[in-house]
Amino acid sequence: MTCKAEGVAAAVRAAAAVVAEHRAELVDLDRAIGDGDHGENMNRGFAAVVAALDAAPPETPGAVLKLVATTLISKVGGAAGPLYGTAFLRASAKLGNADDLDVPALLEALRAALEGVQARGKAVGGDATMVDALIPALSAAEQAAGDGGDVAAVLTAAADAADRGAESTMDLVPRKGRASYLGERAVGHMDPGARSSALLLRAFAEAAR
Ligand code: ADP
Ligand code: MG
Ligand code: MG
Repeated sequence: MTCKAEGVAAAVRAAAAVVAEHRAELVDLDRAIGDGDHGENMNRGFAAVVAALDAAPPETPGAVLKLVATTLISKVGGAAGPLYGTAFLRASAKLGNADDLDVPALLEALRAALEGVQARGKAVGGDATMVDALIPALSAAEQAAGDGGDVAAVLTAAADAADRGAESTMDLVPRKGRASYLGERAVGHMDPGARSSALLLRAFAEAAR
């Protein structure tokens, strides 16, 4: 992809397609330890994002992410909408009006996204939430960037680490969100938001190749 607005918009469209493809899987994960709506919530939100991109294509990467944020905040109820909305909003603020998304900007955006989720939801690592995908994703992204990786390599490293982080939530007792009501009974189940975070990062990484 070009890391200009069109490339970033294409990556967001790819993410919307992946969310649609995995809607039922996310519903099943959330049905096991929550209220079963995560796949619907995400799919409704990202379908609205695609419609918004079609209606008014943004001119900078930051504006693309801002449109994602405002759309998710307005269309997705529940926990995940405001959390992802905050993540994309903080990331977009870091990108400012730049025409191009380079590796340093990508790292700043990922860092801001994680900080936004944690500021909003107060989850820390080990609470069995999307944070358990995003913390290792950021570390891996920083490492890959330090090794001289380009945007695609950095996102691929982030997605690989997010996959492992999402897997790790199976062994954790949830301490935030609906799954926390189940306590020990949630052990053995993957957190749906950690899974969706890993899916989004994978879609961005694939789009960047
Ligand atoms: P709801 O639980 O309101 O139905 P969703 O099902 O769409 O919302 O999203 C659930 C996901 O949101 C969880 O799997 C978890 O990853 C994430 N989540 C919930 N609460 C928090 C929190 N306080 N901090 C971080 N992530 C959270
Ligand atoms: Mg739910
Ligand atoms: Mg719900």
